[in-house]
Amino acid sequence: MPEARLLGMGADAAPPRRVLVVDDEPVMRLLARESLRKAGFDVAEAEDGEAALAACRELQPRIVLLDVKMPGLDGFETCRRLRRAEWGRHIPILMMTGLDDLESIRLAYKAGATDFVNKPINWLILGQRVEYMLRASSDAEELRLSRARLADAQRIARLAYWELYPDGQMRCPARLAGVLGLDDDQLPQTLDELLELIDFDQRPAVTRSLRAALDGEDPGSFEYRLKLREGGERWVRQESEVRRDDSGAVVCVTAAVQDVTQRKQAAEKIRMLSYFDELTGLPNRRSFVERFEQARISARRYGRSMALLSVDLDQLNRVNDTLGHTVRESVLRATAERVLSTLRSSDVLSRPAAGALSQLDFVACLGGDEFVVLLTELARPQDAAAVARRIGDCLAQPFEGEPDPVFLTASTGIAVFPGDGEEVEDLIQRASTAKHHAKAQGGNCYRYFDSSMNAAAFERLQLEAALRRALERGEFDLWFQPLLETASGKLVAAEALVRWHHPERGLLRPHRFIPLAEEVGLILPLGEWVVRQACAAAAGWARAGLPLRVAVNLSARQFEAGNLVATVKQALDDAGLEPGRLELELTESLLMRDLDAAVGTLARLRAAGMKLAIDDFGVGYSSLNYLTRFGVDRLKIDRSFMAGLPDSENRGIVRAVISMARSLNLQVVGEGVEQPEQLAFLEREGCDLVQGYLLGRPMPADDFDALLAEHRRRTAPTAATG
Ligand code: C2E
Ligand code: CA
Ligand code: CA
Repeated sequence: MPEARLLGMGADAAPPRRVLVVDDEPVMRLLARESLRKAGFDVAEAEDGEAALAACRELQPRIVLLDVKMPGLDGFETCRRLRRAEWGRHIPILMMTGLDDLESIRLAYKAGATDFVNKPINWLILGQRVEYMLRASSDAEELRLSRARLADAQRIARLAYWELYPDGQMRCPARLAGVLGLDDDQLPQTLDELLELIDFDQRPAVTRSLRAALDGEDPGSFEYRLKLREGGERWVRQESEVRRDDSGAVVCVTAAVQDVTQRKQAAEKIRMLSYFDELTGLPNRRSFVERFEQARISARRYGRSMALLSVDLDQLNRVNDTLGHTVRESVLRATAERVLSTLRSSDVLSRPAAGALSQLDFVACLGGDEFVVLLTELARPQDAAAVARRIGDCLAQPFEGEPDPVFLTASTGIAVFPGDGEEVEDLIQRASTAKHHAKAQGGNCYRYFDSSMNAAAFERLQLEAALRRALERGEFDLWFQPLLETASGKLVAAEALVRWHHPERGLLRPHRFIPLAEEVGLILPLGEWVVRQACAAAAGWARAGLPLRVAVNLSARQFEAGNLVATVKQALDDAGLEPGRLELELTESLLMRDLDAAVGTLARLRAAGMKLAIDDFGVGYSSLNYLTRFGVDRLKIDRSFMAGLPDSENRGIVRAVISMARSLNLQVVGEGVEQPEQLAFLEREGCDLVQGYLLGRPMPADDFDALLAEHRRRTAPTAATG
């Protein structure tokens, strides 16, 4: 069994100056050991080739002294094997040969020996010899390391170089192929071959600069793109300089080229993130705005129209709810592709009249599910409709889904530049408004923006449509609020207040819809309904033994409608209500619109037996003079005067109104009584009637009936006699 014996230091701590002496002669080993130890080396020994290989692997000596003639593996073979091993490739090997002939020296070098020494060995100088070899080897090692480091650095930096000679020939190291992403056979041999690899658009610039460099001009640095064989691309940054000979003539152009694809891609990613929608990959709002500005400049210059289309899917939320987020996302991505393909389609391009598309046409995703399309060369505004239709058709095709395909439709709104606006935000908003109109009409269609479509107008439009249906659908309800005699607390009247049960918005109070009803004329049928309903209710109360008055609010439109008197009379007749139990509440401003007509109408109403009240007294003209002319029965002090009573300055006004009214023989109603102090004050001042939350809120008819029954029980004796 071959063995290596280590003398001196332990095997674990690898000393820096370890020499392995390989010789089959124990005496030779002993002499070598002694002389080397004296020279400060740490010595290991091996008695044959096998042991030497094992010792080298294990002990990693810095240098090997190797005898040539040994049994088994001889020195040459051992040397060869050492050199083949990774760890033995660079070890200095000093061959000890007793054969003083050229052939063995030649063989020793051929086997990979670093140097040789002849036996008999001069032991005195062996130490120095080894010392010298070690130093040389460490220099070589140093050089090798720094070369390796350079190669590593180049590899890490994805850096390589080439040289270009004035005759157009190039010299490229093999590793250039790796850096440039080329196959080995693609490495350029000439400038023309290099240029072939470069992106077509950038080729002229690169050509120019390299040719100039060959003429001695400083080429500087630039970046360009290489087209790879398998279809990819590689971005390369090139730093080059001109190398000259002593006479100043150009020898070659050297260039260090670096693969900067990753940096380019990172930069591209950043650009993508700030300019593109992450989900669909389409340009985002920011890029849309920028592109719009460019398009606007040329539209202005050439006096062209543009159209901005706002597109989204009608039932996308349903997709999200029932099919989940992933399907929604894939639908949105597919939508982006389809809208894009609609615009790209050559079919459209070949039909200029039906929406010609230009280079500047543009699709973007404004986030969420809102897509916008800009058509920049619109011959006629109508042409946008053709595109909208195509987009609609295209999106109506089923989308892939699991397990079943997803069927959706899209709505499109169109705003035209400059007619509907000149600013991109205005146009986006208007197109979107138009789109909502399209949706309100059932979706799967397109609409052009028109000025009646701004948001408030739209809301009104919707409300109006609902209001028109509300009567026939029985969505109105008449509520009642009690009016009490201040002194007795007796329930003597009720004000009828209309409510609307809006199918989507719930219960609406009058201020939300009366003004609109007045404006669009719906107040007439509604008002008539209220009067009839109120009369019927009051007739019911009378039949139940509680003859209350019912007060109904009239609006100006009703008052001026000409048939008011007849309508109200008819309602009274139909309900079988005594006219004196119906009181009409009118505002001063209503009466002042046409004083003479008002006086006449009021006279006829009075003549028919109805009672009249001035509502909201104090906020309008507050003219008691007129009140006498109108011949009204009652006035209701506006509830704003109740605030702070009895401690506020309103006290004087309320007091004065009550006393003046009394002198004119008018009854006074205090409206909006919420606090006991207010009630006490009104009672002290002799206010005839009170109404307010303190005494009863407006309530549905059934509740009011229940209140009445309760009231009758409490005041039974009075009711029986009255
Ligand atoms: P109004 O004629 O002044 O009716 C009294 C309003 O004051 C009612 O509001 C009532 O709920 C509220 N109110 C009553 N007591 C109090 C209180 O103690 N504190 C406060 N803060 N408010 C109180 P509502 O029902 O919202 O009616 C608002 C207005 O709508 C009415 O004002 C009336 O001008 C109009 N209106 C109601 N029904 C009809 C109708 O059938 N036809 C017409 N043309 N207008 C109506
Ligand atoms: Ca009223
Ligand atoms: Ca009022």
